[in-house]
Amino acid sequence: MLLRICRPTQKIIQIFLKCIKNQNYIRFISLTPVLFPRPFDDSTAKEATIAESRFYLPSLKEASDVRNTILQRSMHSFLERFDMGSLKILTLPAGESNLMYLIIDVQTNEAAVVDPFDVTLVLKYIKKMPNLKLSTILTTHFHYQHSGGNKKLLQLTKNIPEVYGSQSRIPALTRRIHDNDIITFGNSTIKCISTPFHTSGDMCYFVESPNKDIRALFTGDTLYQAGCGKVIEGSYYDLHKALYKKLAKLPDDTLIFGGHENTVENLLFAMKVDPENYHIQRRLNWAETRRSAKYSTIPSTLMEEKLWNPYLRVHTPSIKTITKENDNVRALNKLKDMEDLYMKGELV
Ligand SMILES: [Zn+2]
Repeated sequence: MLLRICRPTQKIIQIFLKCIKNQNYIRFISLTPVLFPRPFDDSTAKEATIAESRFYLPSLKEASDVRNTILQRSMHSFLERFDMGSLKILTLPAGESNLMYLIIDVQTNEAAVVDPFDVTLVLKYIKKMPNLKLSTILTTHFHYQHSGGNKKLLQLTKNIPEVYGSQSRIPALTRRIHDNDIITFGNSTIKCISTPFHTSGDMCYFVESPNKDIRALFTGDTLYQAGCGKVIEGSYYDLHKALYKKLAKLPDDTLIFGGHENTVENLLFAMKVDPENYHIQRRLNWAETRRSAKYSTIPSTLMEEKLWNPYLRVHTPSIKTITKENDNVRALNKLKDMEDLYMKGELV
């Protein structure tokens, strides 16, 4: 049944059989049986490596009332659940384009939530799992659509979770964290990575499963799929340090969960500045199909971001040519200026 839905190539069948044998592979579970486009092709060995983590298993059974709420409120995306063995990650939409994440440590049933702006939706899902213990609220930065639900969630949750963040201006903060701090979360660990440039208190959260085979990075408004956040309170030097000296140094198979569903917009700009890049066109086709059915495009992997995200490619000949900059910090500045012009329709 699944094979018929996916219209698999020979390579996909091989990967699928490997997946059955080895539970470490990621399974993507969505809530509506639609014909998913293949999110990749197997034309190169590198891409086949990326492909091995992608399986889409439609299911109608779970969280139908949460799905109905999303439909009734015309929210931007459906909920999605990524079941990765010892960790589960749920993507929940909020506001116009925000994404909240519920992370579950399967062995202990402990849960963490990232930027729970839409408290009603988060609680609706949590209540469906009575054994779940929400212990941790992770705040990426103080902007309202990321931290604005903290206070209400704290008031409405029975077992008083800790609220983590890097600055006192984050509402309801109970634990102030710093760069490289480790938060124990069930049998998993969460490493705090300070990446200030969007605000002076940006914090990314790097979650590793108990046996270290699943790695996920929650980036708020710092790194997006095919893009990055605006430089507001920091400098372009800070942006360079955050992206190249910190995030890009993480393992290539790290899954990237950004704070907004803005992949298509980012890829359209990426096409403009890196037009010969085949990976961008391929991902854009896939992302547009997903978005037309209200499915999220999250996550990508860090390896994929290095292939199509112009902000992680300022050292490449194509981006150097378009920015006319050899200096990576100045090139980042130039790219953001070009993106601003592009958004205003003024980039020629
Ligand atoms: Zn922000």
